[in-house]
Amino acid sequence: QVTDILAKEDPSSPSYDWFQTDSLVTIVIYTKQKDINLESIIVDHQDDSFRAETIIKDYSYLIHIGLSHEIQEDFSVRVVQNVGKIEIVLKKKENTSWKCLGHPLENHDSFIPRKDTGLYYRKCQLISKEDVTHDTKLFCLMLPPSTHLQVPIGQHVYLKLTITGTEIVKPYTPVSYSLLPEFKEPILPNNKYIYFLIKVYPAGLFTPELDHLQIGDFVSVSSPEGNFKISTLQELEDLFLLAAGTGFTPMVKILNYALTSIPSLRKVKLMFFNKTEDDIIWRSQLEKLAFKDERFDVEFVLSAPTSEWTGKRGHISPALLSEFLKRNLDKSKVFICICGPTPFTEQGVKLLHDLNFSKDEIHSFTA
Ligand code: FAD
Ligand code: NAD
Repeated sequence: QVTDILAKEDPSSPSYDWFQTDSLVTIVIYTKQKDINLESIIVDHQDDSFRAETIIKDYSYLIHIGLSHEIQEDFSVRVVQNVGKIEIVLKKKENTSWKCLGHPLENHDSFIPRKDTGLYYRKCQLISKEDVTHDTKLFCLMLPPSTHLQVPIGQHVYLKLTITGTEIVKPYTPVSYSLLPEFKEPILPNNKYIYFLIKVYPAGLFTPELDHLQIGDFVSVSSPEGNFKISTLQELEDLFLLAAGTGFTPMVKILNYALTSIPSLRKVKLMFFNKTEDDIIWRSQLEKLAFKDERFDVEFVLSAPTSEWTGKRGHISPALLSEFLKRNLDKSKVFICICGPTPFTEQGVKLLHDLNFSKDEIHSFTA
């Protein structure tokens, strides 16, 4: 009986089919799920392998084929949400009729828990690098034309470089190009660019190497990972963001999303912990946003300020949090996100529990 109940909770396996016209080949994936979107599907065509990974809850459905004929670099991906159908439209290089789609490669047509699948990487090109603070930069990477990948809000990817013969991999959280709508991205092919705010540690293993890359060099980028669910923000009224140092990165897209896409939202408050004023990422953007949007407030807390600093000081503490985390209304729907160095996040979560916030009202971003 117990296995019966578990089996019912597992999503049922998707299936796929394909058809062709003179110039196109369409692969159709029937997910048997309604809550899918363009983030649910990751497509890569590299060398002789065509790979389409559909993410369904904690499972991954993989199509992995050596195509029987050549295709053009770009393809399109469509999702028919209400019937749970994904269509990948490939352009044939030559207008001949294909007798078969191709031959199966490793794990083709498998439906397995995501935790049992390895991370897949594709090579992305460094497009630009801009200074943000004395040690933090905004890196822009471009996906290959033959990749469809959208990183869901709150998730991270791994960047991989080979350093003196050894592959080194570290996680990073994509951000938006800016917090302010008037800072428009340069004209880009849609969804092809991924931005990262990355602090370069002079004695670090990975970040100095990343910083040494020239524009046009390549970095491998993994498929997304992470357990943050944007659906937890539905009907939210008060959102509190507690960030320390580069722990600000997951807050960027959450903040943008909250201010643009949650109609019930009344207030977003960011408490941003840094060592010094010079360390504050996007300070002027945050201040501008707070000035322009009365739903947003930001408070900076410095642990090593100069004597001139008139704002809040110290580390995360009961006094700072109890004053900051005031609910707008007694029973308003509240959510708190916290991210930073591990001791910061651990202390913060403990303090939040002491202040009677429940597990369901907190998301901590950890390794
Ligand atoms: P490391 O080699 O790890 O060293 C970091 C610092 O610690 C250096 O100053 C080094 O001198 C010091 N150090 C190393 N070892 C020791 C030791 N044994 N004792 C004392 N000091 C030591 N970072 C970002 O900048 N942006 C992001 O968006 C981002 N997202 C992340 C998402 C997730 C899910 C996680 C877990 C981390 C994220 N990070 C992010 C952090 C990132 O993954 C790396 O940890 C960071 O870039 C440091 O990497 P590094 O190899 O350059 O430095
Ligand atoms: P930092 O050294 O500049 O410190 C920033 C602030 O964190 C300090 O001012 C202080 O208020 C607080 N802090 C630091 N150490 C503390 C401690 N021991 N106890 C309590 N508070 C402390 O921070 P950084 O160099 O920018 O590091 C940011 C950290 O955030 C990294 O460890 C990184 O791995 C982590 N991070 C995690 C994620 C994730 O999703 N899990 C994402 C981004 C960054």
